[in-house]
Amino acid sequence: MLQLRTDVRKTIDSYWEASISQPRQDKQLIGNALFDVAVIGGGFAGLSAAMKLTQAGVSVCVLEAEHVGYGASGRNGGFCCLGGTKLDERQLIRKYGLEEARKFMAYQVAGINLVAQRLESWGIDADRHSQGEISLAHRQKDFSSLKSDAEFLKEHFGINARVLTKADLDAEGYGGPGFFGGLHMPYGFALNPMKYVQALAGQVRNAGGKIFGKSAVTDLSRDGDRWCLETKHGFVRAKKVVLAGNGYAREDAPKWLHGRTLPVMSSIQVTRPLSDDELAAQGWTSNTMAADTRILLHYFRLMPDRRFLFGTRGGIFENAPALAAMRKRARADFQSMFPAWAGVETEFNWYGHVCLARALTPFVGEVPGMEGVFAAMGWHGSGIAMASISGEKIAGLITGAIRPQDLPKPLQQPFRKFPFPAFRRVYLQGAYWLYGWKDR
Ligand SMILES: Cc1cc2nc3c(=O)[nH]c(=O)nc-3n(C[C@H](O)[C@H](O)[C@H](O)COP(=O)(O)OP(=O)(O)OC[C@H]3O[C@@H](n4cnc5c(N)ncnc54)[C@H](O)[C@@H]3O)c2cc1C
Repeated sequence: MLQLRTDVRKTIDSYWEASISQPRQDKQLIGNALFDVAVIGGGFAGLSAAMKLTQAGVSVCVLEAEHVGYGASGRNGGFCCLGGTKLDERQLIRKYGLEEARKFMAYQVAGINLVAQRLESWGIDADRHSQGEISLAHRQKDFSSLKSDAEFLKEHFGINARVLTKADLDAEGYGGPGFFGGLHMPYGFALNPMKYVQALAGQVRNAGGKIFGKSAVTDLSRDGDRWCLETKHGFVRAKKVVLAGNGYAREDAPKWLHGRTLPVMSSIQVTRPLSDDELAAQGWTSNTMAADTRILLHYFRLMPDRRFLFGTRGGIFENAPALAAMRKRARADFQSMFPAWAGVETEFNWYGHVCLARALTPFVGEVPGMEGVFAAMGWHGSGIAMASISGEKIAGLITGAIRPQDLPKPLQQPFRKFPFPAFRRVYLQGAYWLYGWKDR
């Protein structure tokens, strides 16, 4: 049984923080240092790159603004699943062709397998559970779409996704008045992301990589044959740099990032443990990872200690009134989707940044016009598997083990600037209103 710490309420105030012992605070960078590679960001992407490079004998440091797992890697829902883009399979085929879409799908599956294999080989118990994820139709017409998706996935990708009728859902513990059928994808599993990211950082340290905490990079400039990264109390000079700040990246370090990504909010609430009677009253007993078919989707799962994790997308502005409204809306959605639990208390409530890009695909590669600077960012809200594998791929690009063209095409496109970047959030707000209307 998972032991929660109630004595320390930490920076994020999340369930994950309470589930581990005090997160390690790595020492701050003070003074000057020289490394082969400097990685900006201590999440799945940056740490995966650092681990792989260190294992290849490269001298590496990770510069993290706060502490390992401070970003989305320590805040997410723990759905280690397919994803990384907002383009669906049909759009991917139209844009990149069937072969590239297949390659991209295989890459996502490889990402999931990589995380599973890491946990196993490190002997880490990250509260892993269940197999696959289910998409739940929130309207009758969405069930028809799910059925056609199942055929499409079988025909083009050879994926055996299982269609579940409303009766199947009720029989298998996916009870809810607003679910009209489902599609179960056989890939993925659930985990405690904070335990995973802490273990990953441990691997970096054990292999000899250096992690600096409280060391936000405020400037990146060229200095002879090296890049110079400036923090509050020090400088790192490195031949190569990895940008892995994702939704937490500063737009001025480097300036190339300005206007090229769009951080938005996703929020999570976790209830107190539910009793057998409460689970039966709602008819929800499955621990499979689930999401609904809304564009602004909800994602949820019953965790090993029988708390219910419920996540929402759609927050744009990070100020107190906007965050309070997001929290209120999330709770109202939870109550209407799971009415039998309307009185069940939420014990943890937090949010984090996910990173969107204009092309709706991630970028894993060298930044144009900045030789030796690489980026691995833009997972569109699904980064456990994608950031993990892509961090390793960036390491491969740096050591020359792989070439850019070895990556699936959807990952090769450098981020383009958003039109009128200063208004990115405002027009996204418009899009969200439209999505909210379409989701009804
Ligand atoms: C609420 C929520 C739920 C989610 N649920 C899921 C899910 O269930 N499944 C899934 O696959 N994905 C999910 N995601 C997305 C997933 O968490 C992210 O895609 C993934 O963690 C990104 O990893 P990363 O290493 O790229 O970035 P992050 O984990 O965000 O790490 C970036 C780090 O860079 C640091 N940083 C940024 N700029 C600088 C700088 N200038 N100097 C130094 N450090 C810097 C930040 O402090 C941060 O720690 C969710 C995200 C959120 C917010």
